[in-house]
Amino acid sequence: MDLEAEAEELASALGANKEEVLEDLEKLVSYSVPLDEAKGSLRRKYGDSDASGGDEPTTKDIADVATDDANVTVTGRVLTVGKRSIRYQGEDQVIFEGELADGTGRISYTAWQDFDLSVGDAITAGNAGVREWEGSPELNLGQSTTLVFEDEQPDVEYEVGGDRALDELSPGDRGRNVVVRVLECERKTIDGRDGETEILSGVLGDDTGRLPFTDWDPHAEIEEGASVRIENVSIREFRGVPSVNVSEFSSVIGLGEDVTVSEDAPEMGIDEAVTSGGAYDVRLVGNIIEVRDGSGLIERCPECGRVVQNGQCRSHGEVDAEDDLRVKAILDDGTGTVTAILGHDLTAEVYGGGIEDAKEHARDAMDKSVVADDIREKLVGKEYRVRGQLSVDEYGANLDATEFAGSDDDPGERARDALAEVRA
Ligand SMILES: [Zn+2]
Repeated sequence: MDLEAEAEELASALGANKEEVLEDLEKLVSYSVPLDEAKGSLRRKYGDSDASGGDEPTTKDIADVATDDANVTVTGRVLTVGKRSIRYQGEDQVIFEGELADGTGRISYTAWQDFDLSVGDAITAGNAGVREWEGSPELNLGQSTTLVFEDEQPDVEYEVGGDRALDELSPGDRGRNVVVRVLECERKTIDGRDGETEILSGVLGDDTGRLPFTDWDPHAEIEEGASVRIENVSIREFRGVPSVNVSEFSSVIGLGEDVTVSEDAPEMGIDEAVTSGGAYDVRLVGNIIEVRDGSGLIERCPECGRVVQNGQCRSHGEVDAEDDLRVKAILDDGTGTVTAILGHDLTAEVYGGGIEDAKEHARDAMDKSVVADDIREKLVGKEYRVRGQLSVDEYGANLDATEFAGSDDDPGERARDALAEVRA
């Protein structure tokens, strides 16, 4: 472990500022103070002022571990183990991440060294550091942690192991296993941190949905049409949508049988879909409560595609703008809202005409906004089923529609749904 990693672990165990701890640690080590002694002296300096801290960490139930704990001792069962490589000051370091659970709850952990953890192991982690990660406590298992494997398995109400369907994955997940069909796969050369690197990117599917993926260490088994089990993947957010990360630590097993891929997108509540961090392909049902400005007949910059006002692009100045059709509509299902965005084709369908019709309409009325008004009148107050890609990022929650239909467009399906509900 390098000094920065030592400092990070120590700072998080002490609840101290990492930069300050690193500075002190570097100073002491440069005076040839042995690392253990240096760490001991910093422990005394930054004080174990927290009541739950001290040299004697408190034994706690997992649900009781709080972000202001300095260090704790917990006993639990390892639910998942993910392995990945991170870079500290130009050096690669392999870390292990996953979740630990007992009868009271579960908690994420990061192990800074290889404790030889396996899924299902019962362990007691003595003197584990606690740090805050996105508002929740997380355990840090490092050099100062004593790890004991227990014979007795605590009862946990969580799934042991990382097997998940695609619709159960969220950004931040580690150590997951998926069984999928590779729907799209493309080899790309990118400018990585070690120069030019080959990667694979594409789309995976199972019977619950689809997600984009990146394989940072191309596996031969991953090719278009292949059905595979991929072990030890992590999930990150990419352009507002969850994406599956395959790495050098992932194993890919080719399957003899084709994995079934759902033709349809999973239907979700809007709040649930937005909270889950976006979705590559999802169906949302709600009422259109507003058609926003910037809908109807619009003009785009031919260079960058941005919507322009009066022929002026923000990046390209005066341009010979191109006409286009678009709808930006607020969809509300009672649990939340998203902005549904319809491109040219879906807008033309809703409007009942193409760009030329819209321009004629605008000319006759001597007002462009008649097109948006027309669309507004058709859509607002009615219920729609919208399928598409939901991205959730600093631009808000936007659903790029690939399908757009009135909720009663398929009475047969609605009848079946109603019947299923009655039977349930
Ligand atoms: Zn432009």
